[in-house]
Amino acid sequence: MSDTIPSYRAIDPEIVERIRAAVGPEACIIDREKLEVFGKDATEYFRVPELVVEATTVQQVQELFRLASSLKFPVTPRGHGTGLAGGAVPLAGGVVLSLQKMNRIISIDRENLIAVVEPGVVNLDLKKAAAEKGLFYPPDPASLDTCSIGGNAATNAGGPSCVKYGTTRDYVLGLEAVLPSGELIQAGVQTRKGVVGYDLAHLLVGSEGTLAVITKLILRLIPMPRTVTTLVALFPGLHSAMEAVTSVLVHGHVPSALEFLDRHCLDLVGDLLPFEGVQDAGAFLLIEADGAPEVISGEIERIGEICLECGAVDALLAPDSYKRTQMWEVRKQVSLRIEHNSPVYVPEDVVVPIAKIADFVDGLPELEKLYGITIYSFGHAGDGNIHLNITAESREILERVEDGIRAALERVLALGGTISGEHGIGVAKMRFLPLELSPESIRIQRAIKRLFDPQMILNPGKIFKESC
Ligand SMILES: Cc1cc2nc3c(=O)[nH]c(=O)nc-3n(C[C@H](O)[C@H](O)[C@H](O)COP(=O)(O)OP(=O)(O)OC[C@H]3O[C@@H](n4cnc5c(N)ncnc54)[C@H](O)[C@@H]3O)c2cc1C
Repeated sequence: MSDTIPSYRAIDPEIVERIRAAVGPEACIIDREKLEVFGKDATEYFRVPELVVEATTVQQVQELFRLASSLKFPVTPRGHGTGLAGGAVPLAGGVVLSLQKMNRIISIDRENLIAVVEPGVVNLDLKKAAAEKGLFYPPDPASLDTCSIGGNAATNAGGPSCVKYGTTRDYVLGLEAVLPSGELIQAGVQTRKGVVGYDLAHLLVGSEGTLAVITKLILRLIPMPRTVTTLVALFPGLHSAMEAVTSVLVHGHVPSALEFLDRHCLDLVGDLLPFEGVQDAGAFLLIEADGAPEVISGEIERIGEICLECGAVDALLAPDSYKRTQMWEVRKQVSLRIEHNSPVYVPEDVVVPIAKIADFVDGLPELEKLYGITIYSFGHAGDGNIHLNITAESREILERVEDGIRAALERVLALGGTISGEHGIGVAKMRFLPLELSPESIRIQRAIKRLFDPQMILNPGKIFKESC
């Protein structure tokens, strides 16, 4: 790690005192046991920070950065620590800036369909608050009951609804952010449109906390769809399931979710699925359509017919909301069970062009054989975002696993895809960045990083291999 992160000033007792004086002692955590909680996210990366600042105001964030830039110590922003790329792990030590307590929903404006929130608001809390006013905030990462809107914006999080509604970026109209210098900027708009100057708001979205710290977000809401209908279809194999996905979309249907599980996943969670026939199926699609009931009932029926035409052995409607919740619960259980059952577990989240999904998944058994790995694949078939969960029986073959991952990513790129659709690069995928980005693109992106953060104090050691 030392070759990627410059050295920084340690947080010695004098600096601790200066930070306490600047942000208030009640905002500082120095107790070792409590610090450990802030040293990890949902990955295996871990480093205990030297100090944690739990900000409740933007002024505290500014004060912290004024000190950090004058004394040159690193600061790593953190939402709720559910990231899957190691982005919130303080690799260089220093201070973790937790935004968890900046968690006010400032306003939900029904007439203008806008929410203004602080970054620590939990995604599900915003959804509930919007729903109370008949409005809908679509981004729905599977972690929605635990992750923060600030973290969602920093990683441009997505979920099943992306196929119809897009990612977090599509809902960020504007934001307020603190630069590593401590200056406060406003970016974007509070209106539905705006093209004044460069689009800084959307540059910060997806920048994984490496350019600035988001302290407020202005978000687009939409009217709440009146109904949701859920269909499940069982297929003999993944290839026919993926052909059905393409066919549904080509026929002009826009489901609000189009998820899949492969045979390996069905072996793990099939027992939880509330219907027959799973043991003989090779793949499973979970499809939803939302909107006006009179339109949706016809649409979901037609989608079911398309699945059967493409070879589905069964296509069933979820009879009630209880069964619907049960099916989504199964979908959520998949990654937990995979991780629990495998000594080696590497989650990748690649995206391939929709028409190439079938080709890509057809090649997975060959990779399994070549590298001695098992690849559980599931995810957002509707937008080509496949969660490849690469596992192995023993840590002794870690090198082969790494070769297998690289080979899978190379295939993704050869098909015109991308190596991460949701989780980001952080530290976990940093070594693969040059597979996808050209040296010119990396040079420009690093120059942008230096412009925002000339002293490299904000979240060092992330995205790009050399931080300076
Ligand atoms: C079970 C599980 C399921 C998941 N499912 C999905 C999924 O379906 N889709 C998906 O996209 N992701 C998913 N994730 C990953 C994760 O939940 C998302 O990346 C989420 O957006 C992270 O939010 P967080 O608040 O936990 O951020 P953290 O993990 O705390 O931080 C993530 C990154 O954002 C930066 N950051 C956080 N807050 C700010 C801020 N205010 N300003 C600037 N930078 C900031 C951090 O420095 C870090 O780089 C899943 C994770 C788990 C554990």
